[in-house]
Amino acid sequence: MDQISIVPINAIDSSFLARLALCLEERFLLSCRVERAVQIPRTTLNSVRKQLFLNTLYARVVAATPESTGLRLAVTDFDLYKTSHQFIFGDASEEQRVAVVSLHRLRGDFYGDRADANLLFQRTLKECVHDLGHAFGLKHCFNPRCAMYLSGSIFDTDNKLSHFCETCERRVRASST
Ligand SMILES: [Zn+2]
Ligand SMILES: [Zn+2]
Repeated sequence: MDQISIVPINAIDSSFLARLALCLEERFLLSCRVERAVQIPRTTLNSVRKQLFLNTLYARVVAATPESTGLRLAVTDFDLYKTSHQFIFGDASEEQRVAVVSLHRLRGDFYGDRADANLLFQRTLKECVHDLGHAFGLKHCFNPRCAMYLSGSIFDTDNKLSHFCETCERRVRASST
């Protein structure tokens, strides 16, 4: 049976992560625990873009948690990018069994709005469900309310739910058991 290991990158609020773990257990019906943080210094960021490269993050997380047998979910405050993308909210590698989510563009402050802890949590949960879905082999869904809908902007994230649609739910059940 699989389990989900949340891997904080540097310091992430522990009660936020504990709440996230509970919600993910409920969504995926798998045990979910928060692991020790992995330290990634700011000097690892691309110095021009001030962003962390997705593949660098995958490699660091895999190297830091060699004993992990389940799925790893890295949560970072760093802004992320990958080749031919200006930024990404998160992504996953099915082969390496790693999902990553960045809080950077999920924060209200990033858009000049007031900081809202509950809104940040809901956005984070949606993107974590989305990227863990990818780690289970799910592709993007055309239903804008489904967690597997691709968020091109924060409006898409706010418009979707933290649950899978029926079709995606069936797929994730089939691949997670
Ligand atoms: Zn996606
Ligand atoms: Zn769907």
